[in-house]
Amino acid sequence: MDYQLILNEIAEEIMSLQDKGKVANYIPALENVNPEQFGMSLTLFDGTQYNVGDFNTLFSIQSISKVFTFTLALKFYSTDLYKRIGREPSGNPFNSLVQLEYEHGVPRNPFINAGAINVTDTLISYYGNSTNASKEIIHFIQDIAGQPSITHNEIVSTSEMDHGFRNMALANLMKSFNNLDNEVHDVVETYFQHCAIEMNTKMLSRAMLFLSNHGMDPISGVEYLSEQQAKRVNAVMLTCGHYDASGDFAFHVGLPGKSGVGGGIVAVVPKKMGICVWSPGLNAQGNSLAGTLALELFTSKTGMSIF
Ligand code: GLU
Repeated sequence: MDYQLILNEIAEEIMSLQDKGKVANYIPALENVNPEQFGMSLTLFDGTQYNVGDFNTLFSIQSISKVFTFTLALKFYSTDLYKRIGREPSGNPFNSLVQLEYEHGVPRNPFINAGAINVTDTLISYYGNSTNASKEIIHFIQDIAGQPSITHNEIVSTSEMDHGFRNMALANLMKSFNNLDNEVHDVVETYFQHCAIEMNTKMLSRAMLFLSNHGMDPISGVEYLSEQQAKRVNAVMLTCGHYDASGDFAFHVGLPGKSGVGGGIVAVVPKKMGICVWSPGLNAQGNSLAGTLALELFTSKTGMSIF
């Protein structure tokens, strides 16, 4: 299959949509990103990459980081993790407080904000303190992306910390239900730091390979998760990876995937490749507008959905 040709066609076809979405402006440090950018990368199991557009531009990975923190928490805590975090789609906006109150401080899944904050809490406990947790999360991401230069943007994480009242509220609510072990401030700060990690589409498509290959990186041979755990991460990406638009993403794209409000989306084609697309303009549900369409075009043109 001529992947380069397919990527070129997709870039051409989504061009008219690039300025249609709205850049996330609830994080002040993100609102100045030019919405008219688009990049897409594929990484195959032998490391071959195909790219189009702004694939070298670093962007804020935001909620895509939740795939990596969930991976680490699952590795360390296994099924005990589900005592404190569910694995059902929320059908609610990513930062909803109402559902968390009804469900006694147990977040629906590890990808809504409350769930991801809870996952970060488990990693702080595992690594002993928040400084170590932040370091180890970045180290893990550098490892799976094969890029030691990856780091987080302090301006973005500080901006989120200054305006993250709702995330603070979610963490406080969980603490009030005894479902948060560490200090609210430390947990939320560590959470914002991993959201503020910057990568490009090349690095992120590479980082998805272990999930396309039953938990083992096909290039380095390192087993990051057991086959069964990798299956779980992919299943939660499919059912919960796009907040209240997860059903829509499965319907149109048909791949496990995870979006972030920075405009990135990662996706997994089992046994074949990792994919990342980025375009900062978001649709009403907070997912990249052009990016979602690009992935739909990809599975339509290649027939590579899981269905
Ligand atoms: N840091 C963002 C927040 O907590 C992540 C949201 C997202 O990417 O969906 O609001």
